[in-house]
Amino acid sequence: MTTQRERIDLQLADATPATESAARVEAGVAAKSAVAGSKTNLFDLDRASLERFFEETLGEKKFRAHQVMKWIHHRYVTDFADMTDLGKALRAKLEQHAEVRVPQVVFDKASTDGTHKWLLGMDPKNAIETVYIPDKGRGTLCVSSQVGCALNCQFCSTATQGFNRNLSTAEIIGQVWVAARHLGNVPHQQRRLTNVVMMGMGEPLANFDNVVRAMSIMRDDLGYGLANKRVTLSTAGMVPMIDRLALESDVSLAVSLHAPNDELRSELVPLNKKYPIEQLMDACVRYALRKRGTSVTFEYTLMKGVNDQPQHARQLLRLLRQFDNAVQMKDAAKVNLIPFNPFPGTRFERPDDVAIRAFQKLLNEAGMIAPVRRTRGDDIDAACGQLKGQVMDRTRRQAEFQKHLHAQGLGDEAA
Ligand code: SF4
Repeated sequence: MTTQRERIDLQLADATPATESAARVEAGVAAKSAVAGSKTNLFDLDRASLERFFEETLGEKKFRAHQVMKWIHHRYVTDFADMTDLGKALRAKLEQHAEVRVPQVVFDKASTDGTHKWLLGMDPKNAIETVYIPDKGRGTLCVSSQVGCALNCQFCSTATQGFNRNLSTAEIIGQVWVAARHLGNVPHQQRRLTNVVMMGMGEPLANFDNVVRAMSIMRDDLGYGLANKRVTLSTAGMVPMIDRLALESDVSLAVSLHAPNDELRSELVPLNKKYPIEQLMDACVRYALRKRGTSVTFEYTLMKGVNDQPQHARQLLRLLRQFDNAVQMKDAAKVNLIPFNPFPGTRFERPDDVAIRAFQKLLNEAGMIAPVRRTRGDDIDAACGQLKGQVMDRTRRQAEFQKHLHAQGLGDEAA
């Protein structure tokens, strides 16, 4: 019988070379940029793609691309006429071939605890939410990757909305741009936006190329300058894509585990039927081995009477210890306990505080650090789960969206 470590070594050896996959991504961007007659939204391009756009489409030097990136992502300037260190001729060429199209802020709300939520219109029929959560010494932006989600996790409000479409790179990075500009964030100087979590609506690994390209802009010095470990991708467990991510990007990985055994996890996260826990944990081990010294965070939403019992804590502990042993690193596995945030129509409930503390204590006593995530932005429906709760009701959401569009005189366009 092969051990977990042997299985992992074999699969690491089989992995696709990074350069090959990266080339496919680059080719996709180039093809998109070359669509005749359409302007290229520069939010869609990371540094490599933008350099190529400048060289191949505009016939300009690469460093011009760097100047433009700084105007867009550091100074929040989207009008080429205001990019004063570019010559007149180049600005005219940019006007002709390119645009910087930002998502429309339909409305935004600030919570008394500093949390801020935006409803962003992605097109006349789709809107998504982005949430900023300030904390001691850090400010985290929770970013969406899809409109809706196809994975149908039973405790998730987004799942009830179904899947509408993937967000483009521009629509993902546009969320960061809107928040960073609002916060007056100055990359490398005055940073109020210190972390991004791809944990909003959607399964980010199901929209791989757009998410990876957007995360590259987040981490680029000419973009938002975030350290690799400060950009986190959270997945429900798309095993082959976790391996691809390990090859093509360098970000922190979080896994929505939510159950410590296959029977329960398959019920809560149907994707588990395709990629059961053993395969998922092996993929996480491979990820950690490729990114030596990094930990993997396991998200565990506590639901009353479902997955919050002592036996669940013990099973979870066993899984996480196996993970630490396989990557030969103490505390390689981190766990975040998230009390369930109820939303209308759900059959699940939040456990009481005593049950949450008891679950946490069992983990702590075995040496596992297991913070319980604080509820934030409750008064603006921005708490974890509630964000998706607002999104889930398509009729209500569309009505709200249309109302705001009408208030802004855009009703006909949205009809
Ligand atoms: S929890 Fe995440 S992956 Fe699961 S349905 Fe919700 S958005 Fe999709």
